[in-house]
Amino acid sequence: MKTLVINSGSSSLKFQLFQMPEEVLLCKGLVDRIGQKDAQLSFKNLRDEKSLNQELEIQNHDFALKQVIKLIEDKQLGVIANTSEIQLIGHRLVHGGTHFSEPIILTDEVLEKIDEVSTLAPLHNPHNLKGVKVTQTLFPKATQVGVFDTAFHQSIPEKAYRYAIPKKMADENGIRVYGFHGTSHEFITHQTSDFLKKPLNQTSLISLHLGNGCSMVAVKNGKCIDTSMGFSPLDGLVMGSRSGDLDPTILLFLQRELKMSLEEVDHLLNKKSGLIGLCGTNDLREIISLEKDGNQDAKLALEIYCYRIKKYIGAFLAVLGEVDAIVFTAGVGENAAIIREKSLEGLEHLGIKVDSEKNQQANGEENSFHSEESKISLLVIPTNEELAIAKASYEILKK
Ligand code: ADP
Repeated sequence: MKTLVINSGSSSLKFQLFQMPEEVLLCKGLVDRIGQKDAQLSFKNLRDEKSLNQELEIQNHDFALKQVIKLIEDKQLGVIANTSEIQLIGHRLVHGGTHFSEPIILTDEVLEKIDEVSTLAPLHNPHNLKGVKVTQTLFPKATQVGVFDTAFHQSIPEKAYRYAIPKKMADENGIRVYGFHGTSHEFITHQTSDFLKKPLNQTSLISLHLGNGCSMVAVKNGKCIDTSMGFSPLDGLVMGSRSGDLDPTILLFLQRELKMSLEEVDHLLNKKSGLIGLCGTNDLREIISLEKDGNQDAKLALEIYCYRIKKYIGAFLAVLGEVDAIVFTAGVGENAAIIREKSLEGLEHLGIKVDSEKNQQANGEENSFHSEESKISLLVIPTNEELAIAKASYEILKK
């Protein structure tokens, strides 16, 4: 069955087309800068190894997806004769609130409920829903499935998800830890159990998803019990442009003393903080090279980034007890050996010992990089959220 996976953001639309259940990726691509005259469209046909990169004006998501459909059907570049063959569409949905803990077929009733929780994820859910609306119109016969970033975190116990604010107010307004990147962390959990050849319900790990957004989870016996992201994806680790952990009084200070508006504070913490705020760029390749050239801001940014990771590793080791593996994934986690090394250095007394040579070679594919004396396995496992969404969508359709 041809299964299209859509990840729709505010100004971008990522897609991958799979043949399921064989899990064969047929094509993938990205439309970026939607709404601008110089939008970018990239398309890759994996079957014949052909690709296209194009700059064109793309006014909205509807037009973006129409361009994608044209390419998928294109006689030269395309992979199928007619996109009406696509019977299943899986959508990445960031926030399911407390309603949704499993992938679900997107009926009108379900979409209404997701819309209700959009206030909890104003930067993500409305754009995800836009993607659903567009595919509903363009693929009226296909089954649409939603897979939630928050779902894997539903097993977090109350002592970990509840904030210490008045209970009634928190409950009435849905203020709690939700956690994000769940599809990725769940995928990593399954891959780790396979890699270690241990049953899923006996596998405990710390998973680090380090991309532009960064989060960590503590997984005990296959179930998530804590995470670094909280009520929103702003919490926890230092990210590309997000601050991560912050004393809430800073928000009050910015408004009261610096007279910043709510929108300005929101923009500052989500778009202008993190690595960008610390050293001017969010591209870790660039930061690593700047540090090599002696740039002090880049050096400090890397130190802060890795120190925060190390603090969370310590916290999660404490809550987990026995840990089988610490696993790095996503753009930074899979490719930046120096980040893995710096985040884990000095933890030998906790049974964590990096083999530097193996670490240098661990990039980009499933690999271990611990030394023989290490009690905890150290792994790189590439994430594949799109495949996980395709699998979850296919499973639910089969049911
Ligand atoms: P997202 O999906 O959250 O947008 P990715 O998982 O693609 O992000 O990760 C993007 C990040 O990965 C960027 O900061 C980029 O610099 C970093 N990255 C990609 N390749 C490398 C590499 N070889 N070395 C260091 N960092 C890398």
